[in-house]
Amino acid sequence: MKLKDFDKPVLALEQYVTAGDVAAELLWSASMRGFVKDKVVLDLGAGTGILGIGALLLGARKVVFLETDSSALKILKENLAFVEEHYEVGEFVISQGDVSGAEGFFDLVIMNPPFGTKTKRADFVFLSKAFSLADVIVTIHKSSTKDFILKTISDNGFSVVDIFDFKYPLKKSFEHHDKLVRFIEVSGFLIKKK
Ligand code: SAH
Repeated sequence: MKLKDFDKPVLALEQYVTAGDVAAELLWSASMRGFVKDKVVLDLGAGTGILGIGALLLGARKVVFLETDSSALKILKENLAFVEEHYEVGEFVISQGDVSGAEGFFDLVIMNPPFGTKTKRADFVFLSKAFSLADVIVTIHKSSTKDFILKTISDNGFSVVDIFDFKYPLKKSFEHHDKLVRFIEVSGFLIKKK
């Protein structure tokens, strides 16, 4: 199955699609521990939807996709239409808005937030918000910020269930990327409220 990627990624929003193997490994880890099937999931900064769609395919009862950008939402809708046509999946809701406005309580929040390279502390804003939205969170960050993320996790009363380190190719998607493929090191965290 091939989902559609961002058409014209918006630099300020740090629109990078999560690599398929990274999404699969993290979701599988959460799923094996019983955090996905029949659960209500929030995909924060959903982009084109790979994480939330993965959760639907793993049997989530409902997935809420929250995303601010209209062009990403357009592709997300196409991807969801494709999934709906080919698979039996749970309920889903698409919501347009800023992460700061997210409310409610979910069984699981999944996100690959902006790394905070373009908008300072964007990753921290997402993570802080997520702590109030669920007791289980899957989140992806730049490995270079791991110590800070671990401290933030523990300061907020969460503990790490699993960490995965990935090195993944980032295809040239922005003009300022000079090389065709660049590798970035990212870490996926599965965390749970203590
Ligand atoms: N979850 C997707 C996209 C990750 S890229 C995936 O894993 O492939 C980060 C996404 O967060 C982008 O789609 C971007 O548009 C969105 N985003 C950035 N800032 C946001 C904000 N303040 N509120 C909501 N979404 C935001």
